Amino acid sequence: MSLIYKSKGMAAEYSQYALNIYSGCTHNCKFCYNRLRARVDFFEVVYPLKKFSLKKLEKEAPAFAGKEVLLSFFSDAFQPIEYKEGLTYKTLEIFLKYGIIPNILTKGYVISKYWNLLNQFKKWKFGVSFSGDAKKERNCIPEEMRIYNLQWAKTLGAETWISFEPIIVPERIYELIKQCSPFTDEMRFGRWNYDVRANKINYKEVKENIINICKGLNQKCIFKKNLQNIK
Ligand code: SF4
Repeated sequence: MSLIYKSKGMAAEYSQYALNIYSGCTHNCKFCYNRLRARVDFFEVVYPLKKFSLKKLEKEAPAFAGKEVLLSFFSDAFQPIEYKEGLTYKTLEIFLKYGIIPNILTKGYVISKYWNLLNQFKKWKFGVSFSGDAKKERNCIPEEMRIYNLQWAKTLGAETWISFEPIIVPERIYELIKQCSPFTDEMRFGRWNYDVRANKINYKEVKENIINICKGLNQKCIFKKNLQNIK
């Protein structure tokens, strides 16, 4: 089975292809979808995925030349374990060698060491995510740093994007849209799933507010299916 895989379901709304490197995520976001299906110590213990191998990746990489591959859906490829293992860095070197377009989504500190490497790509994408509730994302880099990274990636020539999913505190999301719009190419929005507290949020109204704000800013916005269906 190939390491780079075709995304399915809700993930496919973000990227056609993806690659997972690590199992586990110490960012421990309180809303993480992995809580539903991952091993019990997923948020404490992180290790390279057993099936992941740089040799194997290098073998299959030529077939994905010119394709966009997201790092990563299953965990954050730029979390502290990367300081020790360096597998994300080596993966990006392979991407560079074979012309694969990296699409990065991260709330991790390690990214600050990777700008020089990313700057060598002719085309690359960089994204961050926000829920609007910073308390639920305590182990990630603070919101301000995510905004800085987005701005810096744009300066370096990346196509930038934000995943506002799950939307937990809409008022904060409205502020972030306005703040990040000048350096963000695309914003994506999705609702809070798998939590009864989401029933208290009027997503119809949230969606209307987002449409109006983005219209005023001439900001490209995309709603994921779970919000598209709300009329
Ligand atoms: S960064 Fe992503 S994978 Fe990691 S805990 Fe947060 S939501 Fe889950």
